[in-house]
Amino acid sequence: MKRDPGCIFCRIVAGEIPSRKAYEDDEILVFHDIEPWAPVHVLVIPKEHIATFYDVSEAHTALLGRMLALAPRLMKGLGVTNGFRTLVNTGVDGRQEVQHLHVHVMGGPRPWAKG
Ligand code: AMP
Ligand code: ZN
Repeated sequence: MKRDPGCIFCRIVAGEIPSRKAYEDDEILVFHDIEPWAPVHVLVIPKEHIATFYDVSEAHTALLGRMLALAPRLMKGLGVTNGFRTLVNTGVDGRQEVQHLHVHVMGGPRPWAKG
């Protein structure tokens, strides 16, 4: 599996940096954002290092589908039943800060800190 030793999310996948995990399987890890915008704010990431949405190819469509399909189930499991937001920041103009593909999933009662 492709890994970038300098990437913070690859280091979380490897267990070198601690995270509060919400879900894990062979291909996907979900953990709570360290600076949550909403009462529940998780990041859904592929375990493989894919830097940005631009780097996604046809070969990743099943993986991306699984990542998205997880979101509603995860939110229900975390007690979020009144709606949530799903966001992928990409590149400089997309204000992507961490260069490892991630899907933000945010929910819980308003008001939120952002979003
Ligand atoms: P983005 O701007 O889409 O690249 O968002 C990166 C997200 O990663 C931000 O919401 C950060 O709060 C979050 N983040 C950065 N480092 C960590 C970490 N060590 N554990 C959990 N979330 C993190
Ligand atoms: Zn990475």
